Amino acid sequence: MKRPLFIQFFLFLYFLLLPLQAQELKRTPEVNEWWKAGVARAVITPQEYMWMAGFASRDKPAEGKLHDLWAKALALEDARGNRTMLITTDILGFSRDLSLSVCNRLVKEYHLERKNIILSSSHTHSGPVINSNLSHVYPPFDESQKKQIENNRSYFEDQIITVAGRAISSLAPVRLSSGVGIARFAVNRRENKWDDESLYNPNVNGPSDHVVQVIKVSDQSDQPIAIVFGYSCHATCLSINKWSGDYPGFAQIELEKTYPGLTSLFFAGFGADQNPLPRGRIPQARQYGKELAIAVEKVMEEPMKVLSSSIQTSYEEIELDLSPPPGNEELDSVIINGADWHKRWVEKMKEKLASGDEFPDSYPYYPVQSWQLGEQTLVVLGGEVVVDYSFILRKILGNDLMLMAYANDVMTYIPSERVLKEGGYEGEESMWVYGLHGTWIPGIEEKILNEVVRQVTLIRNGVLKY
Ligand SMILES: [Zn+2]
Repeated sequence: MKRPLFIQFFLFLYFLLLPLQAQELKRTPEVNEWWKAGVARAVITPQEYMWMAGFASRDKPAEGKLHDLWAKALALEDARGNRTMLITTDILGFSRDLSLSVCNRLVKEYHLERKNIILSSSHTHSGPVINSNLSHVYPPFDESQKKQIENNRSYFEDQIITVAGRAISSLAPVRLSSGVGIARFAVNRRENKWDDESLYNPNVNGPSDHVVQVIKVSDQSDQPIAIVFGYSCHATCLSINKWSGDYPGFAQIELEKTYPGLTSLFFAGFGADQNPLPRGRIPQARQYGKELAIAVEKVMEEPMKVLSSSIQTSYEEIELDLSPPPGNEELDSVIINGADWHKRWVEKMKEKLASGDEFPDSYPYYPVQSWQLGEQTLVVLGGEVVVDYSFILRKILGNDLMLMAYANDVMTYIPSERVLKEGGYEGEESMWVYGLHGTWIPGIEEKILNEVVRQVTLIRNGVLKY
């Protein structure tokens, strides 16, 4: 990856402003190590067996459960009374309309600011269909199935509002610390077809990010009460018809077993082109979950960076450009070579073309969010973000950056320029999965990086004041 001039510019900008950050922290006397935190959890396993989200290959609804699905909330308050709300969930992803609906209620009921709310999904492929995302990949739903999805969505939304309220009402003094570990089961799925046989020929190609990101919340007697942890890899170990949080679900269960009374909150990083490989069996999902949990435990048992009690946040939606729709001829070639869901997408596109529908030339709502929790920066992106962004952003903004994707609005994949140019699933075909008519156009990477660097520079320097 060659982006020297571009990266040099941001490095220059960042280091230019760095001294201001130090001054800001020094002249803020009320900043100390005591925070307030409240944590709560609620089951979101659907009350009925219904269609599962994520795979086109399933041909029937859920018919069992490995373990419950959860919504978890961590409310944080800094020394000046600024309050944030992190919601993590065992679902495939929040669509924009679902996100708007939940956020509007959180803002109204708990007087939170939008920029202070993160709605994160683990991207488990063993949860329910919860919104219109990926509707092309499933067989068409009948009226009773549509009703089921609608009812479950209301239940899901209500559980989030409840759990957020319970987190706020349990706010109590805590200390926050952060650190990183490593787990190596994520494999670049564009470059490797890893299976059980690959064990005997273990060449792994392509970039992967194996960093395990950890934020620990400890009470006044230094007992951990919550742990927030992230890993950059698809939650796609399992495709059976049983509810589960996939490997992140097993990881959370493991941590909660190891530390009784603790609530663990998983978030997905920039792992859109990563799979847990080899995969497909329950013991493998359990193994990866345990590997991740042990990596988190290692971080918790070693010295971590204690975070000053100070919150700065930023949230913007930016416009990303889309290519025009394919012509009829191109669509025909997709039908010939495609699966059932390809055909459904093509039919829909042809209908739209025939009726003279307008195709938007951009997606104007791409969410970019940044939180500065004391000395820890967290960058939060929407969509399924490929791993290249981890390496580029760490180069520009430092290795201790925490990176979350699959948050606030999962509208489709977010390829880097490299992946967009190469095409394939993450660069092209995944856009059809999400029902979009075109692909992103070159320039997407720079637009996103510009906005992230702008926000992080501002929040690190305390320019965005409450
Ligand atoms: Zn995905």
